[in-house]
Amino acid sequence: MEQVGRQSAQTDSLLAVADELTRLTYFRGRVALAAILRALGIRAGDEVLLQAFTCVAVPEAIMSVGARPTYVDVEERGVNMDPADLEGKIGSATKAIIIQHSFGLPADVIRLREIARSKSIPLIEDCAHAIASRVDGQLVGTFGNAAFYSYEAAKPVFAGIGGSAIANDDVLRQRIASDYELLEEPPTLTQLETAAMVLAHRIAYQPATYWTLRSMFRAISATGLIPGNYNKIATSQGPAVDFRRTMGRIQVGALRRELKNIDKQTSQRRTVGAQYRSLITSARASHMAIPANVDPVFGRYPLFVEDRSELIERARAAKVEVAVFYDTPVHPLKGQKLRTVGYEPGSCPNAEWASDRIISLPTGMTVGSSQIQRAVNLLNG
Ligand SMILES: *Cc1c(COP(=O)(O)O)cnc(C)c1O
Repeated sequence: MEQVGRQSAQTDSLLAVADELTRLTYFRGRVALAAILRALGIRAGDEVLLQAFTCVAVPEAIMSVGARPTYVDVEERGVNMDPADLEGKIGSATKAIIIQHSFGLPADVIRLREIARSKSIPLIEDCAHAIASRVDGQLVGTFGNAAFYSYEAAKPVFAGIGGSAIANDDVLRQRIASDYELLEEPPTLTQLETAAMVLAHRIAYQPATYWTLRSMFRAISATGLIPGNYNKIATSQGPAVDFRRTMGRIQVGALRRELKNIDKQTSQRRTVGAQYRSLITSARASHMAIPANVDPVFGRYPLFVEDRSELIERARAAKVEVAVFYDTPVHPLKGQKLRTVGYEPGSCPNAEWASDRIISLPTGMTVGSSQIQRAVNLLNG
């Protein structure tokens, strides 16, 4: 594997990282990850470690370069990779490790990076839920060799669909940049459709309209008129065309506008997260443990609840936004389908425990004090 180059100087400036995010932009987050894997030279026969309790986008990117996804469990009563399980799963074919900062709560990057370094295996950070979170004052995304981001509706920055890659290593950055030259922009029509979807979302979405919009989106997706959230997993015929695409320039424009507000967004998410944390006191809902050196900015606020299906019914009736992801170890795959992305049911018990109990609450700009109060009442009541 390549030697680790010079680290970026600005690992604590949110504006510097935000600026980086507009340079290497891809059709989706998973496409950015695939580009990082290509630049690392990952190929058929290689193994890439990732956590269970993730989204199918991640193994899909690994499989798009012909490599094999292998799952590491999350910490007990947690949502991020367990360093002890990681150590046991590294083998001779392991060529990269992807860690995930679920919901904006940073993974134990210090220990995870130590393990990766001790075996000279590159570390990639999945920042799909986390842009402004910090560990020891340093921003997530700047600890590993590279990181990727996603801009779908449920992510901290919404620009339609899209993703970015950043590299913290000069050699790797060069390779990602050369690979980037080979990609193509999506057709203008695709970009316009996505822009229309963003506009409709901005007009219609409020936490109180969540359940109505969700049913509408599912109904329209089923007709095939708009793209659903998940494409087909790449097969032996090679990666789908999406894996050769950059982010549309219309979407990059939206991304730039959103990133201009990143400071304001971040302080809103901090305030809302802190309110959920202090006001939700029910014994039936448990908050995530937050280590002292960690400063999380929650893209969504996660909780573990018992009796989840009953809670969801009450949330729907009360028009309170409560999302359930990931409700399987590799969302949205269930049962035997998990094997298609290399997950053996039962193999990561903590991830399965978490996927049976997780819920999350919104923290974005549209969340006002009355929605917070309603969510708190729902959970405490
Ligand atoms: C959303 C998401 C991604 C990437 O999603 P894309 O749809 O490819 O942009 C990757 N990892 C996690 C954990 C995600 O939630």
